[in-house]
Amino acid sequence: MLNILKFPDPRLRDKSRKVEKVGRVIQDLAKNMFETMYDGNGIGLAAPQVGELVRLIVLDIPLIDPVDPQKTKRDPLALVNPQIVWGEGNIQYEEGCLSCPELVVLVDRMKAIRVSYLDLNGKPLELAATGLKAVCIQHEIDHLNGILLVDKISRLKRDLYKQKRLKIAKEEKDMATVL
Ligand SMILES: [Zn+2]
Repeated sequence: MLNILKFPDPRLRDKSRKVEKVGRVIQDLAKNMFETMYDGNGIGLAAPQVGELVRLIVLDIPLIDPVDPQKTKRDPLALVNPQIVWGEGNIQYEEGCLSCPELVVLVDRMKAIRVSYLDLNGKPLELAATGLKAVCIQHEIDHLNGILLVDKISRLKRDLYKQKRLKIAKEEKDMATVL
């Protein structure tokens, strides 16, 4: 399990670098990111959130069984060097983020996108996504560019949230010292 960096950790603001070679290191990182994401009940995670400044994101928007909508199936997807090559429309979705606990923000995104990427074998591919999947991919690509959910709220709200997070981080640190 990997440690998820939380706002306002400055490392979340760095721009991630392109992956030059998809090999064992990236495959292992993706595997650990999936575990960490599932453990946190997230639907997406970007490498910089676990302190690795590389352009890798993982997501899993569960597939709903067409016969029995109560049943869902995992649909893990890892994208290396993802790039939006086309997009249109507008969708608003209430987003959360594992790096911004207890924050839910209504964000404007493109409704449909096409993304070019490399898979975990280094094969160049393209995919089309709409709805929640498109929202999630755009959110994770933001992370690769150092953009966070807190950037979508007002300066005042962001300052208040930052104070709250710093207080919690301090308490956690004090707790760690005690333990
Ligand atoms: Zn996030």
